[in-house]
Amino acid sequence: MSSSSGNYSGSSGHMCTYETCVLRTSLTVDNFGRRFLGCSRYKVGPKCPFFRWIDNPTCMRGNEAAHLVQQKLQLAYEREREATQAAAEAIQAAAEATQMAEIAQDRAAKATERERKFRASSVQAKEIAVRALEQERKCRIALILSWCFFILVMLFSCFGSSENVGMMRLSLPDGL
Ligand SMILES: [Zn+2]
Repeated sequence: MSSSSGNYSGSSGHMCTYETCVLRTSLTVDNFGRRFLGCSRYKVGPKCPFFRWIDNPTCMRGNEAAHLVQQKLQLAYEREREATQAAAEAIQAAAEATQMAEIAQDRAAKATERERKFRASSVQAKEIAVRALEQERKCRIALILSWCFFILVMLFSCFGSSENVGMMRLSLPDGL
């Protein structure tokens, strides 16, 4: 960076003059806030070396303050970066928690379904057991009745007349 003595300096395919050049303010630490005239095509395309300070050099205290400002900006930038990272991690953790909750809900639903099926099958088993008991009870009654009939027949054949036995046989149902 050097002050230009003339109205323009040419190179890089074009020329800047006082009419076409641009007034800017330096943001560098060593010349913070110092205005200058510069090439109009700065940051656009090939620029010429046209350059001239407008303000006097920044005082020593100004340069010190610029250093402090730069350090604070750097610190603020670091904090913002950390905060952004923390926020991203929090979002990630929330997403993982949501996923875990969904998995847990799914498992709970499956467990409920299994329990429902188990209850239904246990009800069926109870019904079958009740029917079996009923069947067994009927069989016992039939057995007892057949024994009673057998004993009666024996008693009639031993002590009763042959006519009474015949009447007894007629009064009992078939198959017993
Ligand atoms: Zn230029």
